[in-house]
Amino acid sequence: MSDFPGVLHVGDLDVNVSVSERRRSVRLTVERDASVTAVVPPEVSRDELAKVVRAKRSWLYGKLAERRELGESRPAREYVSGEGFPYLGRSYRLRIVDRAREVRLVRGRLELGRGGGAEELVRWYRRVGETWLKRRVEPWASRLGVEVSGLRVLPLGYRWGSCSPSGTVNIHWATMQLPPTLIDYVLVHELAHLLRHDHSAEFWRLVERAMPDFQDRRELLRRLGPDLWLPEEGL
Ligand SMILES: [Zn+2]
Repeated sequence: MSDFPGVLHVGDLDVNVSVSERRRSVRLTVERDASVTAVVPPEVSRDELAKVVRAKRSWLYGKLAERRELGESRPAREYVSGEGFPYLGRSYRLRIVDRAREVRLVRGRLELGRGGGAEELVRWYRRVGETWLKRRVEPWASRLGVEVSGLRVLPLGYRWGSCSPSGTVNIHWATMQLPPTLIDYVLVHELAHLLRHDHSAEFWRLVERAMPDFQDRRELLRRLGPDLWLPEEGL
């Protein structure tokens, strides 16, 4: 176990590994911040641990989705005037208006039509997200030397982003609540996956070359992630 890494990447899961002399079997935990921890007995190899993680994958994904969606720090929303919703790292207050088909950001207030709620707001995040990200993606793509064939902003469950071999990048709409520097990190992470589909050392080198301070951003994302607004599943 001497070469055992602090973080083991299994598929798209990052597992923080620590070794305990007292453990006789692997213990996997999904933390409150939606990270995964493994405490393993000293004799377990990284291949064995990867096997255990893979076998428990659907359980882990379920737990991660719960943590992200039912985070205890997340208060229920009432969609009333004055309630704050984050966008690009700042909080914007709602203003309930009588006639509005779509949510709009007007003079620092998010205007929401009376009777509207999560659905209308999510639609707004997706719309502004597409505009914002489309401007942002090109400079990063050329820095990494990748071709992006399409960009979509949509619900992705517990994931910030995903990508397809055809060059389409998907970003979770909730990402738009983060400060721009962290949205950039999510973007760069997915763009690097167009070159490497795993979380190997080579993958992280690509990320680092494009974004030397990615570690700090990643750490901050871990801390801020659980506090973002996420309505009920399916949106
Ligand atoms: Zn990844």
